Amino acid sequence: MTSTDTQDDLRTEALAAGERFAALEGELGHEELTRQVLAWAAETFGDGLIVASNMQDAVLVALGAAARPGVDVLFLETGYHFAETLGTRDAVAQVYGVRIVQVEPEQSVAEQDDLLGKDLFATDPGRCCELRKVVPLKTTLANYDAWVTGVRRVEAPTRATTPLVTWDSRHGLVKINPIAHWSDEQMDAYIREHAVLVNPLVDAGYPSIGCAPCTARPAPGADPRSGRWAGFAKTECGLHG
Ligand code: SF4
Repeated sequence: MTSTDTQDDLRTEALAAGERFAALEGELGHEELTRQVLAWAAETFGDGLIVASNMQDAVLVALGAAARPGVDVLFLETGYHFAETLGTRDAVAQVYGVRIVQVEPEQSVAEQDDLLGKDLFATDPGRCCELRKVVPLKTTLANYDAWVTGVRRVEAPTRATTPLVTWDSRHGLVKINPIAHWSDEQMDAYIREHAVLVNPLVDAGYPSIGCAPCTARPAPGADPRSGRWAGFAKTECGLHG
């Protein structure tokens, strides 16, 4: 498909593919199902496809690059990342040969501090995520037909029914979740077997990584995502709502 395809065409394609791949769950091994979803995505959308990066590991990028060498990879540069995350981003570009599409908010951190008060993340993290992640993401996705995300069903009750392929009405493009069905153990095994790049912060005790001010080490035995926005009711950035 190309960016000139209508939203109706894309939506129809997404829903048909979603049904087709849902029917294959349980029939194919988890990696083979992912491979087939991504092969279809690469063939169908070509340059209209972008892969979202995850701050923990490069599993999704490795899989996306195998399906489409040189694929675009989205990196939301909020201005608040750990140095280790920025280093992982650079290493990912080198190792997997992908094109990093770095997306930045309209305002720098300093400009935001001047306009809305210092450290907005500490007073209104919802607004901070909106300005530094949600809006830049929406602007960028408008240039694509389909995006690939690393959302997995086991991550949260709100993600338990995530389909492999769907229509993202919020952003107006196809949303592909090719590892939605993977367990934590399957992720770990894939990382081990394929020597996938992992953010060094994972080994330092951060299983879920976001912006530095909003990421803490979870207590031993606690939910891995409990270190995100600790002290606030917030559990999601608002990118997948
Ligand atoms: S995760 Fe924290 S610092 Fe990053 S955009 Fe959201 S509120 Fe701001």
